[in-house]
Amino acid sequence: MAAIEMKNIVKQYGDGFPAVNDVSIDVADGEFMILVGPSGCGKSTLLRMIVGLEDITSGDMIIGGDRVNEKAPRDRNLAMVFQNYALYPHLTVYENIAFPLRLSKQHSDEEIDTKVREASRLLELDEHLDRKPGNLSGGQRQRVAMGRAIVRDAQAFLFDEPLSNLDAKLRGQMRTEISRLQRRLGITTVYVTHDQTEAMTLGDRVAVLKRGILQQLATPRELYDQPNNLFVAGFIGSPPMNFLPATVQGDQLELPFGKVTIPAEKASKVQGKDLVIAGIRPEYFDDAAVVDSARLAQGATFRATVDVTEWLGNEAYAYIPFEAPADVREQLSALEKELEMEAMHPQLVVNLDAASRIREGEEADIFVDARKMHLFDPSSQENLT
Ligand code: ATP
Repeated sequence: MAAIEMKNIVKQYGDGFPAVNDVSIDVADGEFMILVGPSGCGKSTLLRMIVGLEDITSGDMIIGGDRVNEKAPRDRNLAMVFQNYALYPHLTVYENIAFPLRLSKQHSDEEIDTKVREASRLLELDEHLDRKPGNLSGGQRQRVAMGRAIVRDAQAFLFDEPLSNLDAKLRGQMRTEISRLQRRLGITTVYVTHDQTEAMTLGDRVAVLKRGILQQLATPRELYDQPNNLFVAGFIGSPPMNFLPATVQGDQLELPFGKVTIPAEKASKVQGKDLVIAGIRPEYFDDAAVVDSARLAQGATFRATVDVTEWLGNEAYAYIPFEAPADVREQLSALEKELEMEAMHPQLVVNLDAASRIREGEEADIFVDARKMHLFDPSSQENLT
């Protein structure tokens, strides 16, 4: 096992902006690191530079203390697990796992047998050693691919979107499986995905990339609770954070739905700004009728007409359209483009407690928690709070 240090890594293909732009990420020994971001953010290029499938324009790639920039992929001793698992359909599970050992011609049959049986016990594949990949479930195939990596005593596992071809249910199962195995084996892992749910559920830490630039490197909880900027705030969380233009006057925030008094420490951080973007996660709102009085005192309540509600059993979402002047609408749509996000309609997404009885088309009192709001600088896009 080994730590992976990426130091000021740059990848430039031709002209244009670099595919990877001065990225530094330290993956600790045994850590599960996720590289996440929208298409084209440079995550696959970064992974390919770790493995050695892509030259590094500048910076240092250090694996297990060795600088590997000039090392061929086979000399880096890393195991890449691909989307389609790259198993040989005509070979049994046993032979698929043994394959890299036979290829290296450095092991006796006895050694190979011991290693394959050890790995398959660990992966609970020992009952399926005679089967061919075609007769295995998706999860079992994934384990065979990991078994191959284990017998090689690889220094780290690298995954490039391994679950993107699977349906939602299987993806969920496989996610749990990969997470369980990684923890059990304690193997340093770098995992590329564009799916924020995968990132949040699998990673010890998550590196969020946009246009080749590292936006934030943090634990899933930190990313969710304390996003550095508008991009991270909008990318992490589903349904996404609401973004609303807000004018500031002392500790008063004027939002499209009304005035909110913000806590003194937040007010001090936005002093001198006229306009900010308020970031409010759906669950920072609720039906005021089900919120206790202590919590009501921590925020503001406003009256709104609920357009649509979605009831999910244990919770519900309400959609509340709001009127916005033309310049604000323009600003929101520019932001939407810049952030590469889905359309930010002028509507609020509100997460309601299951006890709420608000119905579609009704007017209701909606509570918003002022302590939780994030306030962003519209020009730098940084989180000011
Ligand atoms: P996706 O999820 O779509 O694969 P990604 O985040 O993994 O995207 P990369 O594949 O790393 O992104 O690509 C990053 C940028 O580098 C993109 O703008 C892409 O067009 C560019 N790029 C990638 N490979 C090459 C190449 N071989 N030659 C030129 N440009 C490339």
